[in-house]
Amino acid sequence: MAATPGTSPAAERTVIENCAIATVDADDTEYASGHVVIAGNRIESVGAGRAPEGLGNVAARIDATGHLLTPGLVNTHHHFYQWLTRGLATDHNLFDWLTALYPTWARIDEPMAHAAAQGSLAMMARGGVTTAMDHHYIYPRGTGDLSGTIIRAARDMGVRFTLARGSMDRGESDGGLPPDFAVESLDDALAATAATVEEHHDPSFDAMTQVAVAPCSPFSVSTELMRQGAELARRLGVRLHTHGSETKEEEKFCHELFGMGPTDYFESTGWLGEDVWMAHCVHMNDSDIAAFARTGTGVAHCPSSNARLAAGIARVPDLLAAGVPVGLGVDGTASNESGELHTELRNALLVNRLGVHGEAALNARRALRLGTYGGAQVLGRAAETGSLEAGKLADLVLWRMDTLAHASIADPVTALVLGAAAPVTASYVNGRRIVEDGRLLTVDEDAVARATRDEARRLARLAATA
Ligand SMILES: [Zn+2]
Repeated sequence: MAATPGTSPAAERTVIENCAIATVDADDTEYASGHVVIAGNRIESVGAGRAPEGLGNVAARIDATGHLLTPGLVNTHHHFYQWLTRGLATDHNLFDWLTALYPTWARIDEPMAHAAAQGSLAMMARGGVTTAMDHHYIYPRGTGDLSGTIIRAARDMGVRFTLARGSMDRGESDGGLPPDFAVESLDDALAATAATVEEHHDPSFDAMTQVAVAPCSPFSVSTELMRQGAELARRLGVRLHTHGSETKEEEKFCHELFGMGPTDYFESTGWLGEDVWMAHCVHMNDSDIAAFARTGTGVAHCPSSNARLAAGIARVPDLLAAGVPVGLGVDGTASNESGELHTELRNALLVNRLGVHGEAALNARRALRLGTYGGAQVLGRAAETGSLEAGKLADLVLWRMDTLAHASIADPVTALVLGAAAPVTASYVNGRRIVEDGRLLTVDEDAVARATRDEARRLARLAATA
């Protein structure tokens, strides 16, 4: 057998076999009954039938009868801190919702950020997410090292992680949406972002932690911060992330303030490119989509949040047809209380079918691709994760399909996407098992639940006395 790149003959192996497999490789290869061999932190082989004999150093052999094996899910847009403000401002559009919540968010401190990160990460990890991201842009003065706290929480959880170091410097007095006390200065935001990249960003093939430069949105960030943020990211060799084209109100704001729509504004500030991914992208005309396709700019599609805030339906079938990389995002849990990615697989399919393309908009396999390989693409990690192929990182999930919820559904990929959220028998990140029979192995879920409840109450009390 030819050696798989990155695996050594002595590496400890885990064999998973007798399960259905959706590899999400370029040909959408599937096996009705197949095997995967994990060696160290890599996938050594994937194929039909049982694993070959004579592998050597097999530490575990899992009979996965009744299961579907897929790549781990990849979340491409989130705001962990919102875990503490779920269930508030439930009947608002984006701008009203933001205005209602900014004063509370501006009271976030380090213990709150830690509990919220743990809650957000735990919810995703036990639901099959192996690569997570957090777009954090609230940095009240004197509240400690929020970025470091969030990164530590992800490391402890054992999830692959991108921190998108956000920032806001356009307060109300500069015509922006956030109150002045919730924003940083331009220089502080740039310096802190650079320091976070230098301290935490790992450019390696199998990095567990990466950092992106991520000013929040056109209506909360100065043009200078957009421009200099893009320059900083390119100087440091990291990716760029922001919110874009989320609502009609944002489009109007851009026309009034900049004399152009959001996509043209992004282009004018250096914010289109292969190293950029943007959340939402709901209100895009044909020329906006062509600009994204021409430049290789990626999209984090957040169907539940877009519905919760009545933002609209992103043109995912048109984006995909144009060749734009598209992944899925839960968005912050103040606008998507569930905080788990299965809902987005399902809602991406359902919501897009309500658009002009009808039943041809997306199918179950395309939805699974958005939540796996598409996500890895927009995070710049498609060579490493997002599909089950020899040589890629061992980020994979074993979904149980033989229980009441799924046993009678004809096809396992349809069952995963359109059925109820499937129980996760095992989830591996970087070859390490972090979920077993639906429970996290890396943290005490009940302790995390208590900490998030206590910190949410403390935040509510602080906000009420502000
Ligand atoms: Zn967002």
